[in-house]
Amino acid sequence: MPDVAQITVAPERAAQLTRLIRATGTETRTTVSPLSGADVATIPVSTDQDVLDAFAAARVAQLTWARTSLRRRKKALLRLHDLVLKHQDELLDLVQLESGKARAHAFDEVLHTALTGRYYGRRLARILGPHRRGGVYPVLTSVRQHQRPKGVVGLITPWNYPLSMALVDGLAAVAAGNAVVHKPDSQAPLTALAIIELMYRAGFPKDLWQVVSGAGSVIGSAIIANADYICFTGSTATGKRIAAQCSERLIGCSLELGGKNPMIVLPGADVEKAVEGTVTAAFSSAGQLCVSIERIYVHESIYARYRDALAERLSHLAFGANADWEVEMGTLVSPAQLATIEKHVADALDHGATLVSGGRARPDIAPWFHEPTVLEDVPPAALCFAEETFGPLVSLYPYRSVGEAVQAANSTVYGLNASVWGPTRRARKVAERLRAGTVNVNEGFAATFGSIGAPMGGMKESGTGRRQGAEGLLRFTETQSIGVQRLMPVSGPAFLSRRTFRSLLTVGLGLLRRLTTRA
Ligand code: NAD
Repeated sequence: MPDVAQITVAPERAAQLTRLIRATGTETRTTVSPLSGADVATIPVSTDQDVLDAFAAARVAQLTWARTSLRRRKKALLRLHDLVLKHQDELLDLVQLESGKARAHAFDEVLHTALTGRYYGRRLARILGPHRRGGVYPVLTSVRQHQRPKGVVGLITPWNYPLSMALVDGLAAVAAGNAVVHKPDSQAPLTALAIIELMYRAGFPKDLWQVVSGAGSVIGSAIIANADYICFTGSTATGKRIAAQCSERLIGCSLELGGKNPMIVLPGADVEKAVEGTVTAAFSSAGQLCVSIERIYVHESIYARYRDALAERLSHLAFGANADWEVEMGTLVSPAQLATIEKHVADALDHGATLVSGGRARPDIAPWFHEPTVLEDVPPAALCFAEETFGPLVSLYPYRSVGEAVQAANSTVYGLNASVWGPTRRARKVAERLRAGTVNVNEGFAATFGSIGAPMGGMKESGTGRRQGAEGLLRFTETQSIGVQRLMPVSGPAFLSRRTFRSLLTVGLGLLRRLTTRA
């Protein structure tokens, strides 16, 4: 079995990748792998001037790129799809090295990235148009809707999905004709750099995607001060700060933020399947996934059976901090993440919660590993009742009526993702009552997340805007309508008086409405 010693990056390769960062100063920082606690690489830190230079270069590149044919952009997107699959071994190593997740979960990122390239490659022309729109008068007015790129998009990404979160939003931005100035998270820059290197090889011009590095609180403001649009993925607290800064400049932003995602298990659900689904929904990437399930509402008729089956399943979950494909849960990314889950567990127990499974840190597996943990009897006063843990911690709640479960599921400030288990028709009806941007029936998150055609994003404090689908591309564009008037002005021909024209038009519109639409 491959072990932790086999997941490394050669110093020369790390140095080659870090040269892609625009950084001229002398400051550096060292990244640490959660697999072992060992140093990974020395990363140069960008100065404010580097950020300005990145924007200047990106602006020049964008002007040319915006004029390139959609055919050429399509070719680059599809080539990227192929390159990601071809070079997946290095990408998988880097994702694991920098995030600590299991190899199978790292592969989810490879898939998500490749599929996004394919989706936009195939749909670009259809989504961007131009599209014909009806004019005031048929034939006489012709209107076309065009989608113009915003310009230079500031992209700020988190560490938890260091490959796909680094790429998929920015990929839509460049597909739409923009340039990108990107600040990957300081924890996982090499993964981001490796995929950006593949973008250049796929045919995207080098200056089109600029990378800067440093603390978000320091260079984040310089990015927002210079961008034409901001695309941010991260916590709700940071998202609110970014939204305030964007509003001062009147630039748009899409914010993909946190969640406290609920699952409802209906009476009549297949308990074994729901338990298996819970393992994936709550513990993939050690629960450090924005769409991860953290609250589970189970009908009282099956509650005890579900709880005991979940505890039994977790008692033999395969843990590990290595490259074994059969590992079912990897480690947390940092001491800070471990501290949060330990705090949430201790606080819940102090408030009278009961431990169903897990509950301990396991430094014998990796320095910041924490067991998948299940609690019940969690009272509203406990931190983990409504606050995002962003770790492998779920709370179980029995319910009597479906209305009660729906109300509880909708009761937090978040609205990112939800899951419903049960007979399909019934579960779909319940799904429609949930206030979440994505709802998965008999799945945790992958049914919607894996559908690149389906928009994904948050309601309420889980964000604004959507990634994926047409919306994921259109957010990076300005809509421009160009109307061409032929033969006579919209106000009517010169030989008719305004009064006569008004009467004719009123009769015409009445007829048209009856001919084209039924009441
Ligand atoms: P975070 O908000 O601390 O950091 C995210 C990114 O923002 C990092 O690159 C960071 O350097 C940067 N940043 C921090 N302060 C900034 C500032 N003032 N200005 C500009 N940039 C700044 O979040 P995190 O802890 O790295 O990520 C975990 C959070 O992200 C969780 O809440 C999770 O739910 C959320 N998330 C959401 C999605 C989604 O699609 N909705 C996906 C992944 C993660």
